[in-house]
Amino acid sequence: MEDKCEFCLGTMEYRRILARFRFMKETIYIENVPAWVCQRCGEQYFEAKVYKRLEAIARQRSLIQRTIVFPLAEFDMAMAA
Ligand SMILES: [Zn+2]
Repeated sequence: MEDKCEFCLGTMEYRRILARFRFMKETIYIENVPAWVCQRCGEQYFEAKVYKRLEAIARQRSLIQRTIVFPLAEFDMAMAA
């Protein structure tokens, strides 16, 4: 990883951030994501393994949203089985 921002050549800092992540036309916010952040323009860079994890979380989130459409009682019975 370069220690300079490729847009403005500002200094990059590695820290945990509230990441803004675009996935399937949705913007998702995920807390405590390790990322490189430009001190000057605020550009965020994720390492490949971190990016994959963000994708997995986003995919999980869309599954959770689909789960909500099932009746709660039916969901409870499935859990007890
Ligand atoms: Zn920058």
